[in-house]
Amino acid sequence: MKTVTIIGGGFSGTMAAVNLARLSDEALKIVLVNDRHPLGRGIAYSTTRSEHLLNVAARNMSAVPDHPGHFLEWLHSRSDFSDLPEPQLREMYVPRRVYGDYLRSLLQNYLAPIDSHHPAEIEIIEAEAVDIVPSSQDDSADVVLDNGDKIASDRILLATGNQPPAGPGREETEEFRHPQYCPDPWGNWRKRIPDSSENIVIAGTGLSMVDSFLTLEELGWRGQIIAISRNGMIPQSHFRGIDYPDFLPENPESVGLAGMYSLLKTHCEQLTRLGENPGLVVDRLRPFTQRIWQKFSIEEKQHFLKHYAARWNVIRHRIAQPIHQRLTEAITEGRVKVQRGSLKDVRGHGESLEVVVKTPDGDQQIIPGGLVINCTGPNAGFSHTKVKLFQNLLQRGLIIPDELDMGIQVGPDFTVIDANGVSSSKLYAMGALMKGTLWETIAVPELRGQAMRVAEMMIATSTDQDRDYRLSVEEEHVIEYYI
Ligand SMILES: Cc1cc2nc3c(=O)[nH]c(=O)nc-3n(C[C@H](O)[C@H](O)[C@H](O)COP(=O)(O)OP(=O)(O)OC[C@H]3O[C@@H](n4cnc5c(N)ncnc54)[C@H](O)[C@@H]3O)c2cc1C
Repeated sequence: MKTVTIIGGGFSGTMAAVNLARLSDEALKIVLVNDRHPLGRGIAYSTTRSEHLLNVAARNMSAVPDHPGHFLEWLHSRSDFSDLPEPQLREMYVPRRVYGDYLRSLLQNYLAPIDSHHPAEIEIIEAEAVDIVPSSQDDSADVVLDNGDKIASDRILLATGNQPPAGPGREETEEFRHPQYCPDPWGNWRKRIPDSSENIVIAGTGLSMVDSFLTLEELGWRGQIIAISRNGMIPQSHFRGIDYPDFLPENPESVGLAGMYSLLKTHCEQLTRLGENPGLVVDRLRPFTQRIWQKFSIEEKQHFLKHYAARWNVIRHRIAQPIHQRLTEAITEGRVKVQRGSLKDVRGHGESLEVVVKTPDGDQQIIPGGLVINCTGPNAGFSHTKVKLFQNLLQRGLIIPDELDMGIQVGPDFTVIDANGVSSSKLYAMGALMKGTLWETIAVPELRGQAMRVAEMMIATSTDQDRDYRLSVEEEHVIEYYI
């Protein structure tokens, strides 16, 4: 019996395991290795707080690409959602912990012992995978765990999600070990909330800042939050789509960055003139973004990252309308202050901290904070990874950073490319590790397709392997449903 080991048990690893189990016609052992975050839930869906909502409407959150209504049907089967009319349920932004329950229940279905209908078995191991050692005898490899155990594997999938959060780069120093500095927004900072007479400083103004703000509100904390980011932009709100004529050329991937920029500018301006949300332009592009990205030259990609990516992310990663309203009210009332600048340092000041911020005009500003929460997002430069598994794989030459150093090099069939430029016969990757390759590879609407395709690929016979497992644009249209 073949063994497939999946490293990472968040959405990506869990759904890859579920797809392997449901698609395999032959006996297969699937080993799901996961640590730190609860199995099935990963970072996003392990929150236990009901104010943390999905940022995608329920109708587009099926985990199974060939069953678009799957999540809605599952919600209907739960007593707390069963009475809601279908149109209301479709548009709901459900608590993320409920989505974690959904993923766990999907996995649970395939944990049953092998029978003739389900010839695959899933084994769960709670441990950190720290290395992969190729066999000198055959084409298999051992996945090495932090407790020293080894899992002999025929195929291995890296589904490890984002790199851990990054900070301003001085995290090794004493000051950053201050109890009131929280390096990870998902860490337990709730027990350290200061008196409302002090500020809470949040580095970052993206989705994890919004989560921290919501939790502080729910806990009744009434002090001031100062949220700092280079661009000072907060996530935008979801909105209702309108009828707007198709404006993309037949092959949008062929127009290049300059052509795409002028097309988007024209239509954003037109939508603004019509009093409509220009975010619609980004939604229309969504089924094509991966292809457009892959066609860009390296210079175009670098230019995009430097000049447009921050704005793109703000428009693309939107939040539910009621949450946006709560945040903008708090800003209007002065409870949240958004400040442009970058966090350079923190200094201990008794039981509190002082945050050193470089403002856009180059000045230095000192902001006192009773608590500092780092919400700046995952570490960006892959080659400087602090993750032991990736340090070892880089050293062995089993993986190589992509040309933008955002993740690793992966082929269109999900196989990992090694330091000699050769596609691996056993090592696969999906999700955030493919960010440099695909750009959009973060949310469920992209990951569910990947989890199914990579599963198909890993159980494919050698004659199938010539196939390119990228989704066609038509399939992407179906899988994206309608955002
Ligand atoms: C706060 C937040 C909210 C979000 N909300 C939404 C949303 O509403 N809708 C949406 O579509 N997307 C949302 N996303 C995007 C989200 O990233 C994806 O939906 C998805 O959860 C990513 O799953 P993943 O498995 O790729 O990564 P992760 O969730 O990060 O899971 C990776 C898992 O692998 C484990 N792991 C990593 N390395 C190892 C190792 N060496 N050994 C063992 N285990 C390892 C990690 O501990 C973790 O448990 C959100 C993201 C965040 C952070």
